[in-house]
Amino acid sequence: MHKNQVPFFRPYLDELELNEVLDTIRSGWLTSGAKVKRFEQEFATAVGASHAVAVNSCTAALHLALEAHGVKPGQGVLVPTMTFAATAAVVRYMGAIPILVDCDPLTNNMDLLDAESKLAQLKAGKLQDGLPRDTPVVGMMPVHVGGMMMNIEAISSFASTHGLWVIEDAAHAFPSAWRKGPDEPWQRCGEGTAHVTCFSFYANKTITTGEGGMAVTEDAEIAARMRSMSLHGLSQNAWGRYSNSGSWDYKIVAPGYKYNLTDIAASIGIHQLTKAEKMRQMREEVASYYRKALASMEEIELPAEDSNRIHSWHLFPIKLYLERLSITRNEFMERLKEDGVGCSVHWRPLHLHPYYQETFGWQPEDLPAATAVWERTISLPLFPGMKDEDVEHVIRTVRSECARHARSYAAQLS
Ligand SMILES: *Cc1c(COP(=O)(O)O)cnc(C)c1O
Repeated sequence: MHKNQVPFFRPYLDELELNEVLDTIRSGWLTSGAKVKRFEQEFATAVGASHAVAVNSCTAALHLALEAHGVKPGQGVLVPTMTFAATAAVVRYMGAIPILVDCDPLTNNMDLLDAESKLAQLKAGKLQDGLPRDTPVVGMMPVHVGGMMMNIEAISSFASTHGLWVIEDAAHAFPSAWRKGPDEPWQRCGEGTAHVTCFSFYANKTITTGEGGMAVTEDAEIAARMRSMSLHGLSQNAWGRYSNSGSWDYKIVAPGYKYNLTDIAASIGIHQLTKAEKMRQMREEVASYYRKALASMEEIELPAEDSNRIHSWHLFPIKLYLERLSITRNEFMERLKEDGVGCSVHWRPLHLHPYYQETFGWQPEDLPAATAVWERTISLPLFPGMKDEDVEHVIRTVRSECARHARSYAAQLS
């Protein structure tokens, strides 16, 4: 008998990407050149940004953004604990200290009330020993988890109250938008939503170049610094040496990195970009299918909804009501895997990783909302081009595992 297998993610590519890559290979110009330039310009237009710098990962974009902001060793940066490794790792690259912030248990996004409280605790010397009370906090790095944007106005007012810059980890948030209310205009993620906004084009993100990223900003100087540092810290006019107009001479103005994107990758990106909204709508359709089919399940909490957001639907995380089930999240995932459903968890929060525990002394109870979310969350498969029968297989599997392992009402009370 044929067994249904649904992967967690599959990229959505066709002849357009294929032919563009072939065209690039045939041209003989493989690294950063005309296609990267075109991808940058078209991406900037797509998000409504003034400057875009293409790089080889979102991690690189985040690192360059911090470097361009002159982050110094020993300074503090507010980072959500509910994020991927990269958001905090780049802070450590600079020798700075990630001050971890708890999440809103509904959206999994950074909780600004907890950010306020972590700042107060830090000043009062009440955070752990790894975090000295005189640590100057200089910036914050919100993450739009799964593509559901945070309230941008709340972030900027928090940032200006505390004199912080904002570097957005928008790895999940293209294309995404928010508005303050039904009568307010939409603002796209990257359209001046932060000092720098960083996107990911990793293989399983909303658009992909295999590996790749983009930093966008309204600040010409920051953009120029990021561009220079993405290519060995060469002077601006030296960048042209990668095109026909370039000169053979260049000057090193700082010890930079090697983060530039290739024209091969940009060839894929150019066509992914034109499909981005279509792919978003395809994911949204799957998400509403899931939502409808799982709405009646008492064992499951569905992702938050907000009519003032355009959701990229990078992820569809469900949360188990563990008290209503006789199995744990890990056991639940194991069952889904056995039934051919590829799942993932976003994420084991940073404060539950040995590095952050051992280096800064974080304990599970310091960030209680994230600690609780981690134990009950599962991300279901969600990608454009998912077949109806695949979506139905996921739904059927989730429903039957819930039914099989539901605890009786009496058992829940005891
Ligand atoms: C994927 C991801 C990154 C890193 O992106 P890369 O392009 O792989 O460097 C950073 N932050 C978050 C939240 C991510 O999910």
